[in-house]
Amino acid sequence: MIFPSNVKSQIKAIFSDFDDTLTNHSLFHSKTLKTLESLKQKGFWLVLVSGRPAGWADCLMRILPIDAMVFENGAGVMIKEGSKITTVRLASDKNLSEEKKILEELFISLKKEIPHLKLATDQPYRLYDYAIDFIEEPPPLSATETEKTLNFLNRAPGITAKLSSIHINYWYGQHTKVTACEYLLNTEGKTRSIHLENVLYSGDSPNDEPLFQFFHHSVGVANIRLFWDKLKFHPKFITQLEGGNGFQEFAEELLT
Ligand SMILES: [Mg+2]
Repeated sequence: MIFPSNVKSQIKAIFSDFDDTLTNHSLFHSKTLKTLESLKQKGFWLVLVSGRPAGWADCLMRILPIDAMVFENGAGVMIKEGSKITTVRLASDKNLSEEKKILEELFISLKKEIPHLKLATDQPYRLYDYAIDFIEEPPPLSATETEKTLNFLNRAPGITAKLSSIHINYWYGQHTKVTACEYLLNTEGKTRSIHLENVLYSGDSPNDEPLFQFFHHSVGVANIRLFWDKLKFHPKFITQLEGGNGFQEFAEELLT
């Protein structure tokens, strides 16, 4: 048993990270799809909250039984109504082409110091941010190289950099996963009478930390333990199992 009954009775929506929370070692298993289908059938409002590109969001929104998806760490959201998918851009487009040049220059400067540094293979499908792959594909960055990259990017004026379980994402602007979730709650959430206390957030890594702080109810899948000491704000609950198996573990409790 993970959730006390007073928590369980409040939950009407599940906001979840994707990589390593719904997947295991980058694979999305059929049992996890079945779990999403069951949650949807029970009437839960399902929202993915990810650092993945707009291109991934367009695909996942079409093939998964989800209602909305936050992409590129809050740069925008996609919302599904029947077969219609609406994209809302929350980041500013005003200086986008100049900003993207600076994001590229930052990558080039870093690569001079860390020659095996590489962009994520999903970079071409991103509208706003840059993603450096530290462990999704070989060769991985060492913990020291990852730390050095994050510190370098966070020192650049106007840049926000965040560590996911696979990428270091960096961008211009004040948007975050939290601001995008707030947008969804204030718009779609309101029309469904879903408020902050009705949401359960699930995640697995440091870039989920602001959401563990923001949402009243949160759960970490077991692999969050890898990053436990890096976190100031921890999820309220933790599953026994990792990734998609952990997602199924807590979802089964909500479904019974
Ligand atoms: Mg993750």
